[in-house]
Amino acid sequence: MSRVVSPETAPGDAETHLRPQVLDDFIGQRQVRENLKIFIEAARARAEALDHTLFFGPPGLGKTTLAQIVARELGVGFRATSGPVIQRAGDLAALLTNLEPRDVLFIDEIHRLNPAIEEVLYPAMEDFQLDLIIGEGPAARSVRIDLPPFTLVGATTRSGLLTTPLRERFGIPCRMNFYTPEELELIVARGARVLGFALTGDGAAEVARRSRGTPRVAGRLLRRVRDFALVAGKSPVDAAIADAALTRLEVDRIGLDAMDRRYLTCIAQHYGGGPVGVDTLAAALSESRDTLEEVVEPFLLQQGLIQRTPRGRMLSASGFRHIGLNPPQDVLVQLDLLARMEDGE
Ligand code: ADP
Repeated sequence: MSRVVSPETAPGDAETHLRPQVLDDFIGQRQVRENLKIFIEAARARAEALDHTLFFGPPGLGKTTLAQIVARELGVGFRATSGPVIQRAGDLAALLTNLEPRDVLFIDEIHRLNPAIEEVLYPAMEDFQLDLIIGEGPAARSVRIDLPPFTLVGATTRSGLLTTPLRERFGIPCRMNFYTPEELELIVARGARVLGFALTGDGAAEVARRSRGTPRVAGRLLRRVRDFALVAGKSPVDAAIADAALTRLEVDRIGLDAMDRRYLTCIAQHYGGGPVGVDTLAAALSESRDTLEEVVEPFLLQQGLIQRTPRGRMLSASGFRHIGLNPPQDVLVQLDLLARMEDGE
C-alpha cells in the first residue's frame, strides 16, 4: 500500500531541488549540525579526511542530505552506494580504489552489508588498506592495496542491527531525531518558496503539524496540498485549504494515516490494548515486521501513543483516546505499573 505519509522514498518525490545544499540551510538537528561543523572545520584545517561518520534514525530525516552536505562542505568528491548493492568484495574494492584522497563514500542501509564485505571494510576504515584474496584453492594469495584516506559516511535506520565492530569504527556517530513542528514549519515554508507557490504562515504550520516529524513527508504533503489548491483555484494556500487537502488524503490532525489507525485499532480491539508481540501484529495487519518497526512504530512511540514493553506493544491512554476509545481500567493499571518500573521503583 502506498501511503502519503510514508517516510520512505516514493516515485514522484523528486527530492533533488528540495534538498538543502549547505549546512547553514539545513534546518533542525541542531546538535548534529553543530558537531559536524566543528569536525569539518578541523578536518579542513588539518587537510585530513574527516573521521568516519554514522547517521542513524528513522527514514526521511535527512541522512542522505547531510552526507552530501558533508562532502560539499569539505570540498571533496561524493560517491554513494547502499549496503545490499555491494555483493562481492570486488565491488567494494572497485569503489574504494576509485576514490580521490579525502573523498566521502556514502553507504546507505549499512546494516544490510553482507558480513564478508564488512570484514573487508574494517582494515579499509582503520588503516586505509584493502586485503583481498585473489584466486582460489592452493593458488590463492592475498594482496594488500593501499587506499587513499577517505571518509566513510554510513546511514542506517536500525543502529541496533549494526555489528559492534562496525559501529565502533565510526568516530562520529550522529543520532537523528524527529523534527519539532516549529522546525518543520520552517522546512515547509522554504519548500513552498522553492516550489514557487504562495503559502501563508498558518498554512505552513498546518502542513508541518501533520508531517510526522519527517521532512520527506512534509515535502510530499506540500506537493499534494499545492495540487489540491491549484485545482480548487485557491491562492495563497492557508490553513483551511491545507486542512481540506490533508483530510481528503486521510492524514489526521497529528499526521497519522489509515495504516497507523489500523495499527492502533488492532491493538485496542483484538488484543485488549496489549501487550502484543510485534510478529503477531505484523501477521494480523499483513505487514512485514520490518515495516512496522522501521516505519510505523517510531513515530507512534515518539508521540506516546504506544509503549514498548518486554512482552510486546501496548496502547497508551492517549493511544486509546486518539482512536476515540476510553482506555479500559486494567490497561491503565498495567501502564501505571510499567511507568513505576521505569522509574526504578
Ligand atoms: P534519509 O536519507 O534520512 O532517508 P533524505 O536525506 O533523503 O532522508 O531526506 C528526505 C527529504 O527530506 C529530502 O527531500 C530532503 O531534501 C528533505 N530534508 C531532509 N532534511 C531536511 C532539512 N533539515 N531541511 C530541509 N529539507 C530536508
